Amino acid sequence: MIKGKFPINKFSEIQTPFYYYDLDILRTTLDIIKLQAKKNDFHVHYAMKANVNPSVLAVIKDAGLGADCVSGGEVEAAIKAGVSPSKVVFAGVGKADWEINLGLDNDILCFNVESIPELEVINELAAAKGKIGSVALRINPNVSAHTHHYITTGLTENKFGINMSELDEVIDLFPVLANIKLIGIHFHIGSQITDMTSFQGLCMRVNEIQDHFLARKVKLEHINVGGGLGINYEHPNHFPIPDFEAYFKIFHDHLVLQPQQTVHFELGRAVVAQCGSLISRVLFIKQGTSKKFAILDAGFTDLIRPALYQAYHYMENISSELPAEKYDMVGPICESSDTFAKDFTLNQSKRGDLIAIRSAGAYGEIMASQYNLRNLPVGYTSDELK
Ligand SMILES: *Cc1c(COP(=O)(O)O)cnc(C)c1O
Repeated sequence: MIKGKFPINKFSEIQTPFYYYDLDILRTTLDIIKLQAKKNDFHVHYAMKANVNPSVLAVIKDAGLGADCVSGGEVEAAIKAGVSPSKVVFAGVGKADWEINLGLDNDILCFNVESIPELEVINELAAAKGKIGSVALRINPNVSAHTHHYITTGLTENKFGINMSELDEVIDLFPVLANIKLIGIHFHIGSQITDMTSFQGLCMRVNEIQDHFLARKVKLEHINVGGGLGINYEHPNHFPIPDFEAYFKIFHDHLVLQPQQTVHFELGRAVVAQCGSLISRVLFIKQGTSKKFAILDAGFTDLIRPALYQAYHYMENISSELPAEKYDMVGPICESSDTFAKDFTLNQSKRGDLIAIRSAGAYGEIMASQYNLRNLPVGYTSDELK
């Protein structure tokens, strides 16, 4: 059984639990994204909400990716990290006035607008500044992402985006709202999508919607197809890098573009998930009546995905080569949902062993909380621990 590469000697000096980011994996991932995107002349914006660890962000910014933000805080963090505002897009169903003003003041590439009232408010706030706000319409394409229902966003039952039935009303508004400019359309159908036919379905729907805009004589500079590309949580050592070539090829093959139109992507998980692990220690091995529990010092305050989405994370005992046994892997928090996995096969473990909870680079550290008055986990990189 192959295991991940970890600087275990350095780990012994660090208080667990903590996040560890392998920047070699991140850099290789980014090299492949850049290569494959360039082949197709695609623009990639990193979805900031997946991870804003400053060292991780710096590597992503150096690779030249833009930023996809869903809050004013993320817009600020992207610009502070050195991302050019001309590569920043800003989505979200509930943008506050200060957040819209922040985007306007920084002349970001565009607001991805999710409702008619939002269009009106951006127009009003832009007028007050004597500016023109660039907007893309986030359209809810009613395409299923075949993923967990909590991370499906492109169905009419979801709160996101403008519904297809409202399109004509929205198109009619643009000549009236003088301080906004329509530059594109935007979609994001969900996350952890591994079934590529979902993206193909999205392309078909985008083409239909484009035809609608063309019939109404509306020209769009850009098409933003969002993010959502999934990663392999079961086998992070065998599949550390998602198949970006196949992913971009779907859009290359199926999107019908107009001359000079640019295509934009917003990838989060696929960029950062596999470079991160949550490193934890076994506090106790407890023999229950029917099963054994490995009680870790990490819990859902450090990594909430299993508790929130029943998400699976591969785990390995990086201190033990003993024969495997089955454990329920649990945290110390006073909630039964504080369980990373049941009946998980792990090398025989003892108090003090280090457990790497893998594929935790996306939606991990950033979702940490202080529930039970626990400390927030710290993030370390492979560059720091060399
Ligand atoms: C979360 C989000 C993304 C990124 O999704 P991933 O599954 O991490 O790639 C992209 N765009 C929008 C609008 C989002 O909300």
